[in-house]
Amino acid sequence: MSWRCHGQNYAELVSNLQKHGILSSPEAAAAMSKIDRKLFVPEDGLPYNDAPQVIGFGATISAPHMHGYCLSLLADHLKPGMSVLDVGSGSGYLTAVFGLMVGETGRTVGVEHIPELVDRSIVAIKQTPASYLLDKDHLNIYVADGKLGYVDGAPYDAIHVGAAAAVLPDALVDQLKLNGRMVIPVGTSSQDLVIVDKLADGSIRKTVEMGVRYVPLV
Ligand code: SAH
Repeated sequence: MSWRCHGQNYAELVSNLQKHGILSSPEAAAAMSKIDRKLFVPEDGLPYNDAPQVIGFGATISAPHMHGYCLSLLADHLKPGMSVLDVGSGSGYLTAVFGLMVGETGRTVGVEHIPELVDRSIVAIKQTPASYLLDKDHLNIYVADGKLGYVDGAPYDAIHVGAAAAVLPDALVDQLKLNGRMVIPVGTSSQDLVIVDKLADGSIRKTVEMGVRYVPLV
């Protein structure tokens, strides 16, 4: 799906996401502004187009409007000091934005099952202001099956899933903190972006945000 927030440059892209009410969190916009999407898109790609871009190995970096929506939906759970898990971290772009939001008092974990993408994502993040988080070991990206989450860093205030799960993985729900929130695309041929809130009493509330199209969580 392509959208209408294309920019001539990165600042214009971020500004258009804000103007269209997609990137509604000022904290998310500030962090996003610092992570140039160009560093995460192959040279022949169109980094400032509001559309997914192919990054190899059957993966794509999601469209900026999807990143903007997900960041805004998760922003209250990405405050400094909080912990976040990015499942299917792919290019590493969103993982880096999450890292800047939770900062060095927080913890950012990315999980991706294609080792080459993990290596590339780390090289890209090293060129951004989130680099210091890698150095300080407050941001890590692991080669692993994201359906299992990442127990070592659990529980998480925020979980983002960047690929569509056929069904909601129990392990990810288990790894959410009380009052934590997960944003996850669920479905096969037809997919919904689902918000999963774990309430203070441990009960789960699911809200369908919108129809989406993501690559599958395999
Ligand atoms: N948020 C990422 C999305 C990348 S596309 C970005 O914008 O760059 C989805 C990613 O999920 C792909 O990189 C794919 O390799 C990965 N993926 C799919 N199934 C997975 C699984 N079971 N465990 C970990 N990663 C998975």
